[in-house]
Amino acid sequence: MRIGILAVQGSFNLHRQALQSIGAEPVEVRHSEQLHNLDGMILPGGESTTFHILLSTGDLGEALLKELRCGLPAWGTCAGAVILGRGEGRPQPRWGLIDLEVIRNAYGRQVDSFVATFDIIGLAREFPGVFIRAPRFVNLGPEVEVLAKLESEPVMARQGTVLVTAFHPELTSDRSVHRYFIERLCSGSQQGTVKSAG
Ligand code: GLN
Repeated sequence: MRIGILAVQGSFNLHRQALQSIGAEPVEVRHSEQLHNLDGMILPGGESTTFHILLSTGDLGEALLKELRCGLPAWGTCAGAVILGRGEGRPQPRWGLIDLEVIRNAYGRQVDSFVATFDIIGLAREFPGVFIRAPRFVNLGPEVEVLAKLESEPVMARQGTVLVTAFHPELTSDRSVHRYFIERLCSGSQQGTVKSAG
């Protein structure tokens, strides 16, 4: 299972290690040619305005958007979710690949970062969510499935081949969300198997 990670900025390194630890093959993507033969794509946390600038330079952003529109499964964590969703304010344009509005920095500033545990649908235990200048997901469309809530607000949601998390699973040792993405969203073009432990 070859999973691309947008590696122009942000926490791509920890996603790479997380994928390796569950037996998937991470591919750091910095150029459009690296988008070939992927089973999924992670847009990591970082700074969405910087992602936008870097994706608008050269052909990477356009090529990635084309692949995602053609059905390449995508997972956006935090800043990655900002790019994948809808929304007012910077950065613009958002890609609107999942029908929800993403409000940036809605849980406060860097100093307001926190860890909270919550249930994720399909997991038999609570997940430790790390929230860093996290976005809020609002005005969800009818096709969007909420997979986790924190105090009644959605923090993990999916529509078809697109997954968004307001938190950072790569910053914990729990690989459940990485495994969820690979097994539930990327399995259509499965090239390998994912270790069940870890
Ligand atoms: N608030 C940042 C942004 O909107 C995202 C922060 C993060 O990815 N942890 O770009």
